[in-house]
Amino acid sequence: MGFDAWRIVREGLTGNRGWRPHWRDPHPKADYDVVIIGGGGHGLSTAYYLARNHGLTNVAVLEKGYLGGGNVGRNTTIVRANYFLPGNSEFYSHSLRLWERLEEDLNYNVMHSQRGLINLFHSDGQRDAFVRRGNAMITQGDDAELLDRAGVAAHLPYLDFDNHRFPVYGGLLHRRGGTARHDAVAWGYARAADRRGVDLIQNCEVTGIDISGGRVTGVQTTRGAIRAKKVGIVVAGRSGQVAAMAGMRLPVESHVLQAFVTEGLKPVIDHVVSFGMGHFYISQSDKGGLVFGGDLDFYPSYAQRGNLPMAEHVMEAAMSLMPAIGRAKVLRSWGGIMDMTPDGSPIIDRTPTEGLYIDCGWCYGGFKAVPASGWAFAHLIAEDRPHKTAARYRLDRFRDGVGLMDEEGTGAQHNLH
Ligand SMILES: Cc1cc2nc3c(=O)[nH]c(=O)nc-3n(C[C@H](O)[C@H](O)[C@H](O)COP(=O)(O)OP(=O)(O)OC[C@H]3O[C@@H](n4cnc5c(N)ncnc54)[C@H](O)[C@@H]3O)c2cc1C
Repeated sequence: MGFDAWRIVREGLTGNRGWRPHWRDPHPKADYDVVIIGGGGHGLSTAYYLARNHGLTNVAVLEKGYLGGGNVGRNTTIVRANYFLPGNSEFYSHSLRLWERLEEDLNYNVMHSQRGLINLFHSDGQRDAFVRRGNAMITQGDDAELLDRAGVAAHLPYLDFDNHRFPVYGGLLHRRGGTARHDAVAWGYARAADRRGVDLIQNCEVTGIDISGGRVTGVQTTRGAIRAKKVGIVVAGRSGQVAAMAGMRLPVESHVLQAFVTEGLKPVIDHVVSFGMGHFYISQSDKGGLVFGGDLDFYPSYAQRGNLPMAEHVMEAAMSLMPAIGRAKVLRSWGGIMDMTPDGSPIIDRTPTEGLYIDCGWCYGGFKAVPASGWAFAHLIAEDRPHKTAARYRLDRFRDGVGLMDEEGTGAQHNLH
């Protein structure tokens, strides 16, 4: 089933009775060339690019719940390429270029909106850091513009410019940054992978990984054993648990991250605004809700909900940045499980078990990475060598220090990126 303007008009005029499910609901086969564990954004994009870029279609995605029920459907939808460190900047730059043609590629409206992202700064030191970041972004081929206080006021007149604790000095504007509808991204990749023959198997939890003679041979699941020549683990917050099935202890901790949405309002915020000093960021969804969040809850957990101290902190930051938000009613809050690495950057690599690959460590920023991660992980699985954009995302970098994503190996700083 394809989407085009004529089809939408025809369905609209005939009671929308012609639409069909976006993907099949197949029974698992006894064996596959490739099994992907995890039907989140990264698992689905990996399956799609295995089929599209490498012609591998005897592929299954095994999802313990429903497609899109994990972090891919829980995030605050920000898409940007403003990373600073070598290794990250080219990867996220590639991802943003894939985003820019994703809807055409998938024939699916993922509501990618390049409304512009503004990172605020509140001191001379912070401005210097953003100037440096902006130069790195431009050198990488992406866009960045430094705004002074008046420049920020022209874009974001509703901020509190009289705040003495956090005076607005200016901002770094990344015009190609923005948002996309998160669950549509999962659905778009799922539908496109299914159309190329990938089996998407929901309610199928992987409970064991079969290994013989140092080589992966398949997986045990709640729907029976499935043999596979190659297996990819892409389970975000559950990475540590699933890797343990293959005897691995990952350099990953799982932490809760919360988000919040208000009642629907008329258009008021037409950018993504990031207030790093107060650990707060905000945008407005197409339905009108103000979508915002802050930092991690900062304790390891597998609970997909957060606690009140962080909720209070986020609300306080919101009020200090834009007091008018106090008039809006918060409708919902939720949480997701973040797979945090010590240097805040991901892992896309082989494992000590032949034929077993891992893609994890996306921390609180893996939504924007969905296209490039799937692209690079599919490349790794198909060709057995890393894609050039992800060559530094090595599993062993925390043991030997090679490829660490900090500046000079002087110590990991997870939020430098
Ligand atoms: C509140 C919040 C806000 C965020 N905001 C942003 C943002 O604005 N921008 C951004 O770039 N990133 C953001 N992120 C991060 C981003 O959402 C994640 O990094 C990314 O979605 C993780 O990859 P995924 O989509 O593959 O994960 P998931 O969707 O979690 O996919 C993993 C899947 O694996 C499945 N699974 C786990 N164990 C098993 C098993 N044993 N067998 C089978 N299946 C299994 C899970 O059910 C899940 O569906 C945010 C995250 C949260 C929680």
